Amino acid sequence: MKPQNLLDRLKNDVVIGAEGYLFELERRGYLKAGAYVPEVVLEYPQAVIELHTEFLRAGAEVMVAFTYYGHRAKMRAIGREGDLERLNRDALKLAKTVASKGDALVAGNICNTWEFDPEKPAESEKTVRPMFEEQVQWAKEEGAHFIIAETFNHLGEARLALDVIKKAGLTAMVTFAAKGESTYDNVPWAEACKILEDEGADVVGLNCSRGPETMFGLLEKIRAAVKCYVAAQPVPYHTTHNHPYFQVLEDVHGNRAFPVALDPFLVNRFEMAEFAVKARDLGVNFIGICCGGAPHHVRAMSEALGRTVPASVYSPDLSMHPVLGAQGESKEKYKRHIQDFEKKS
Ligand SMILES: [Zn+2]
Repeated sequence: MKPQNLLDRLKNDVVIGAEGYLFELERRGYLKAGAYVPEVVLEYPQAVIELHTEFLRAGAEVMVAFTYYGHRAKMRAIGREGDLERLNRDALKLAKTVASKGDALVAGNICNTWEFDPEKPAESEKTVRPMFEEQVQWAKEEGAHFIIAETFNHLGEARLALDVIKKAGLTAMVTFAAKGESTYDNVPWAEACKILEDEGADVVGLNCSRGPETMFGLLEKIRAAVKCYVAAQPVPYHTTHNHPYFQVLEDVHGNRAFPVALDPFLVNRFEMAEFAVKARDLGVNFIGICCGGAPHHVRAMSEALGRTVPASVYSPDLSMHPVLGAQGESKEKYKRHIQDFEKKS
């Protein structure tokens, strides 16, 4: 059995994470795009258990309680503030149930609130701090091993989250969603991560918004700036120099692809596997995936990092494919198919 806390695991090896619950459960028809509130925890807990299980089988070592956007402001916006505590506690319980089946850790999850205004930090704190406090407290009481606080655009809001987690006596992983080169309160990402490290964050880094291609350069700067553990959870989409984050990707007609038409930009399993190796070689310690991620990505990443995971039993073996794996007599037998497979246009 591996150590039951994040820092001991990170000391020994890369820890593999997996997120993207909002996008995947939306694709599966259990969650509404737009408000993106994880009501599925209450309405279809089995669907959440299933996705946790799939990520676990794919090699994820952390089951992240699905409380992303399960905070007071979001629940109020959809008229379900009364279900806030139940949703949070239930999400933790679901994550714990699955984690216990595969030696995974349980992470509580808090995120950007959309309530933080850098022009009014004191006023913002009055709203945001209690939102974080109640979620962190519920996570602690339900037995979370650590807290992932993520997708922050503002350093100010990330610092608040960190402070709440540290005051609760828990391990803190705090990550930003990098669009431009700096936070919305104008601090370059590496510097912002260094500030979080100095204030006690155990793991800092990036999640969401950027795909592997455009996240990597920022990770290099962050790795050079901090001594603590670094996390990287990109979105599996082809973001580019001109479109560095997925909110600005455009389809062939010039229409915005975010958030529900991103399919043609999806990064395949091999590309995510390549990212995992590059990130490990850079010295990134927590490697995962964010919105858009699916179990096949995570399995390929795990295997690229040298692991055999439960779902590896069903990893591809194209030598068994009648055409692609054809040899000897079957090559003759499937001649016509082989010709068609080789057509270039
Ligand atoms: Zn995301």
